[in-house]
Amino acid sequence: MKKKIQHLLDEIESEYNYTRRMTGKDRLDPKVKAALLAIPRDKFVPKTYLDSAFYNGPLPIGHGQTISQPYIVALMTDLLELEKDDTVLEIGTGSGYQAAILSQLCKQVYTIEYVPALADMAKTRFEKLGYDNIECKAGNGYDGWPEHAPFDGIIVTAAATHIPEALIEQLKPGGRMVIPVGQQYLSQELTLVEKDEDGELSIRDILGVAFVPFQGEHPV
Ligand code: SAH
Repeated sequence: MKKKIQHLLDEIESEYNYTRRMTGKDRLDPKVKAALLAIPRDKFVPKTYLDSAFYNGPLPIGHGQTISQPYIVALMTDLLELEKDDTVLEIGTGSGYQAAILSQLCKQVYTIEYVPALADMAKTRFEKLGYDNIECKAGNGYDGWPEHAPFDGIIVTAAATHIPEALIEQLKPGGRMVIPVGQQYLSQELTLVEKDEDGELSIRDILGVAFVPFQGEHPV
């Protein structure tokens, strides 16, 4: 098992190297690496896909959704540049894998999942595996989670047609948000939003990606 995770990490690092000109990231943060080594991805995939749990690819998790490709999980986590006292909001819990990775790198993770059955499954997993700094709820992440805002980091793992205003508002000055923006199955760009200490935004495209679409009401 250790060997399989190490092999996956080697693949992630080689893809990192391959995409470094686009992403501006040429070295995976050692802390992110340690988190990837610590989280057993096989505990987050359906039993039928156990053999593929450590492949560097997305996998179906039911309800038409997927667990993201590990390289993308690594890149998005890395882009957040988390510190251990940080609070993070994730939109799109899915399997819970991304939230579990984040839980190793910050103080508290809040995560929202649109499909109630997936939210329930993820909650059970977090409890079973002892990740007690993750709070998960079912709902539409379009409005963020105002009760726990502001956040040092926000990560969205479904493709939105635009950056939801509420998420920008709930980002702390000095905070970072990573979000795939674009149309379903058409060009989507993984986008990094940085809010400086004065509240000024800088927005940068990082890489072309293919995420499942953001669901529910989100007015354009
Ligand atoms: N981060 C996940 C990847 C999940 S795929 C993982 O590590 O496994 C994207 C998820 O976003 C799906 O589960 C989908 O149901 C969810 N989603 C889509 N639109 C949403 C919305 N408006 N609010 C919250 N979750 C949403």
